[in-house]
Amino acid sequence: MTDRLSTGLPRLDRCIEGGFERGIITEIYGEPGSGKTNLVLYASIKSSEMGKVIFIDTEGVSTERISQMTSDGSVLSNLKFFRIRSYEEQLESVPKILNLVQSMNEVVLLVFDTITVHYRAEREIRAELRRKTSNTLITQIEMLNNIALSMNIPVILVNQVYMDKTTSEVQPVGGSALSHIAKAIFRIQKLGSGKRELVVVKHRSLPEDVKCSFAITERGIE
Ligand code: ATP
Ligand code: MG
Repeated sequence: MTDRLSTGLPRLDRCIEGGFERGIITEIYGEPGSGKTNLVLYASIKSSEMGKVIFIDTEGVSTERISQMTSDGSVLSNLKFFRIRSYEEQLESVPKILNLVQSMNEVVLLVFDTITVHYRAEREIRAELRRKTSNTLITQIEMLNNIALSMNIPVILVNQVYMDKTTSEVQPVGGSALSHIAKAIFRIQKLGSGKRELVVVKHRSLPEDVKCSFAITERGIE
């Protein structure tokens, strides 16, 4: 077994040396509509031809988009969705989901789209919980990192961005914990009319700022 899992898109695989690394967390962040969900959903559907894929979803993945991306519905029996609707549900469910995952055979990929969204919402409602929510987020990221390591699978965490007012640049939310624990970090940029770029922000064997172009199309990504 190689240490990479294909993204499902040969041109992206070529650009990032074979795909997503097994045994580590990969973080993917970008603006709303940049294509984060398209990318991870496409990789999940393609990977489900090889084994089980766990997709933890806080957004409500579009079933219409899944059918646009699939030609053969049978592979989808390998794609397991877990929907998380609130911060409390995330706190309670993630450890249970991860326990279940550890008891499963033939898991090839775990995706979490989007790891931080309920944390962000919870903090906006109750700012005094900032420290507590940071700690619970770190705990969840550590659990996910352990899964990546112990099961030797890629764990992909999708993240949102905020505008850093001092630098006027978009930054991933969730503080520095995730960017330290994630061993690969990619940013997706919109180039307009369906065109997108995956930019290497951090990687163990690729220079930063490597750029890989792809497009969001009717059938998925190309
Ligand atoms: P968010 O942060 O809001 O979750 P995201 O980064 O996950 O956003 P996606 O949902 O992956 O973004 O991508 C949305 C983009 O996908 C939109 O620009 C939309 O136009 C494009 N898209 C969705 N379906 C199709 C389709 N059938 N054909 C072409 N483009 C599509
Ligand atoms: Mg999304």
